Amino acid sequence: MRPAHQAVAPCRAVRQDAAGAQGAGEARHATANVRCYRVAVTGVLDRFLRYVTYDTRADEQSTTCPSTEGQRVLLGDLVVELRAAGVADAAMDERGYVMATIPATSRKPRVPVIGFIAHVDTSPEMPGAGIVPIVHRNYDGRDLVLPDDPSAVLTLAANPALAEQMGHDIVTASGTTLLGADDKAGVAEIVAAAAHLVAHPEIPHGAIRIAFTPDEEIGRGTAHFDVAAFGARCAYTMDGGGRGEVEVESFSADAMTLTFHGFNTHPGYARGRMINAIKVAADFIHRLPREAAPETTGDDQGFVHPYVLHAGVERTSVKVLLRDFRTERLQAQAALLERLAAAATAAHPGARVTVDVEESYRNMREVLDRHPEVAAHARAAVRQAGLEVRERRIRGGTDGSKLSFMGLPTPNLFAGEQNFHSRLEWVSAQDMEKAVEVIVNLCRIWHDAADPSQAYPNVATTGA
Ligand SMILES: [Zn+2]
Repeated sequence: MRPAHQAVAPCRAVRQDAAGAQGAGEARHATANVRCYRVAVTGVLDRFLRYVTYDTRADEQSTTCPSTEGQRVLLGDLVVELRAAGVADAAMDERGYVMATIPATSRKPRVPVIGFIAHVDTSPEMPGAGIVPIVHRNYDGRDLVLPDDPSAVLTLAANPALAEQMGHDIVTASGTTLLGADDKAGVAEIVAAAAHLVAHPEIPHGAIRIAFTPDEEIGRGTAHFDVAAFGARCAYTMDGGGRGEVEVESFSADAMTLTFHGFNTHPGYARGRMINAIKVAADFIHRLPREAAPETTGDDQGFVHPYVLHAGVERTSVKVLLRDFRTERLQAQAALLERLAAAATAAHPGARVTVDVEESYRNMREVLDRHPEVAAHARAAVRQAGLEVRERRIRGGTDGSKLSFMGLPTPNLFAGEQNFHSRLEWVSAQDMEKAVEVIVNLCRIWHDAADPSQAYPNVATTGA
């Protein structure tokens, strides 16, 4: 079945604007000195506007993979599109992971195989069905009012990143849903780059691998990612923010569950007997350090963050996220929380607490520092696209945080996403075009930099 995405017709404005954007791209090509700019330009916005109309919201409660059927529909259609673009081996496995290869165009030996990865799911926190993308042409600093909810307004004052988008085409949703630029911008950029590379065999590159994955937003994006089958020396997730961003550092993250045990009895006859676990947990939460919370930290600071509460008199559990850029700091955070929990239970005689800590992901920089050329080539590709490199630490994780530790060093590059997981999510068509250019540049840079005399141990290479 092809459900939601076909039922939703793009609004009139979108169709007109998509056509207009194409025209603009061609006009730009006439003066651009960037190589083969036009082909990339005409692919990416069109594709993006189509992909966002698929409902691919992930579902944490689901036990299947992908967690929702809509993701499989889009993943299946991506296989068809890749093949139509000339990527002949594109295929989806039974869990929905799509992998494909752009064959090498060069006979140069020992060119490392590199990969590009994006996720098709959208955040479960926001509605993801019936998304109507709107292209606001030629942005000039005006307020962008989203028609389905007049209170949803993108203003320059509240969105400083818009200041560098003058004259660009801004895509938003219509006010009641997220847009899904996270990460369909990345998907569209990779498909557009693949189509461009296939159409331009004169661009020298080694074998390029592509993967589209489900369920990143619920932390399962790499659960069934077959690194060996992917067979690349390194990869880049296209899942970042504004143009020029290169992200080589993420949080290290653990999840801690503290379960407070009390004693329940009929409240009418509870004097001297009841121990209310809800109150013990509340006492614990009250003791959490205010200066180490998401609301009060930024830049290179870590935090502890209670985010789920399952409450009952007999038993109440609190889930807490532990986050820091230095992995060893997570232990100190866990120790602090145990001390606070012990103090809370001590204040409620008879109560006790049990604690469980689970590893979530680790700062990918620990791996990427051992493979400096992976980030160095990304910076060079950004500069070749005429952009300034912006390095940012991700105050969260990406699939790369896990993949890097699974043997596939994977920094994150900009895809143009802004205000992700929000009704005010937006992306600039020109940022997406730049991301396509960066992908193409990277393929060539890895080719040109390859040293035929150097054998990389245990990694896939192209050619003899
Ligand atoms: Zn994402």
